[in-house]
Amino acid sequence: MTEILILGGGSAGIMAAARLRWSLSMDEANITIVERSDKHIYQPGQTLIVFGLEEPENIVKPMEDVIPAGVNFIQDEVNNINPEENYVETKNGRKLEYDYLILATGARLLFDEIPGVEENLGNNGIHTFYTLEGAIMLRNALEEFEGGRIVLIQGPMPFKCPGAPIKFILMADDYFRKKNMRGRVDITLTTTLPQAFARQPYAAKFDRIFEDRSINVVTSFNPARVDVENKEVKSFEGDVENFDLLVVVPPNGIEEFLEDGPLADPTGWIGADKHTLIHKEYSNIYAIGDCANYPTSKTASGARKQAEVLAKNLVATIRGGTPKDKYNGHIICPILTRYGKALFAEFDYEKSISPAQEMWTNWALKVYMLRPMYWSMMLKGLI
Ligand SMILES: Cc1cc2nc3c(=O)[nH]c(=O)nc-3n(C[C@H](O)[C@H](O)[C@H](O)COP(=O)(O)OP(=O)(O)OC[C@H]3O[C@@H](n4cnc5c(N)ncnc54)[C@H](O)[C@@H]3O)c2cc1C
Repeated sequence: MTEILILGGGSAGIMAAARLRWSLSMDEANITIVERSDKHIYQPGQTLIVFGLEEPENIVKPMEDVIPAGVNFIQDEVNNINPEENYVETKNGRKLEYDYLILATGARLLFDEIPGVEENLGNNGIHTFYTLEGAIMLRNALEEFEGGRIVLIQGPMPFKCPGAPIKFILMADDYFRKKNMRGRVDITLTTTLPQAFARQPYAAKFDRIFEDRSINVVTSFNPARVDVENKEVKSFEGDVENFDLLVVVPPNGIEEFLEDGPLADPTGWIGADKHTLIHKEYSNIYAIGDCANYPTSKTASGARKQAEVLAKNLVATIRGGTPKDKYNGHIICPILTRYGKALFAEFDYEKSISPAQEMWTNWALKVYMLRPMYWSMMLKGLI
């Protein structure tokens, strides 16, 4: 009996567990997920909540409801991995041994890395939609906003869903146009990069949209500190932006217990091969989802593809075959550009795939269809 241990019951962990369980009989493998939370959140829905397009109760389920049948669930927090002796340890004193370990612990939100943010979140005009509670509070803050400067700051790359800041800014613009108050709202997107989006042709398209819709874009702005009394944010480059409402996309990192361990690479993420998803030092450890160092966007769509590749290769390995599948970096990032339109940025490690086109059909897929598909098909490993 092969012991497969999955750390994290987020998008990547559940999708991998489901696909493995479909393929491996109960006699071949015991599959266990260790997850600290009792809830699973469909995080892509958080952006929709801010603009009244989704309700919180639709994007949260009890963790037990998404654990695939035939997979064991241990609710606990992992705080140590011993990759030499093939076991992990947990906060509640468990020692769990494995033959294969799948790391799917996601990305940690590091609000504390920008002084002035964490202690003021939800107050003093400082908001985020990177947490569910934050998205709900930001929705209320936008409803009550009477005019002034909205500024979005973001941490350095990589962070999960790098298209999310653009979605927020474009939807905020349209939201205030619909309320007939855009003339009273000044909107600024800051980015640490030299342009708002890293990939062409999408970057050029967004730049045109920002110009047409009078959205300010400040590039090479690495937020250093937020001063709530003076309502200003300073960058390491020495620039200052004043705000009435500040939206924060925080820096991201891996879990603290992994940071200085043997599995992280010099970039600070789990060092696995970008095609095989196998750890570079330990051949029985895989990394999928946001915790991995793959040079593509950290998205649930990427996690889905990675889960598929991992499952095929691990099943082949367990059965004594040769793993043949490779992850090519494919992701799709659906970017809402206004009410009724969305642009899908689709690319892999090598090339951009979809046209830079705003379409209603993309909107319909993103706003009405993806969440039900996520619960009923993606998490079940069916697509
Ligand atoms: C606002 C926002 C909008 C987004 N929009 C999109 C979008 O439109 N499209 C898209 O594809 N993606 C989007 N994403 C990104 C997507 O949600 C993530 O890429 C995806 O959730 C990654 O899955 P994961 O399993 O790697 O991480 P997660 O889903 O975050 O899961 C990680 C899990 O590991 C658990 N965990 C961590 N450490 C431990 C530990 N030590 N012990 C036990 N359990 C642990 C956590 O509790 C968590 O449940 C968005 C994300 C955000 C925040």
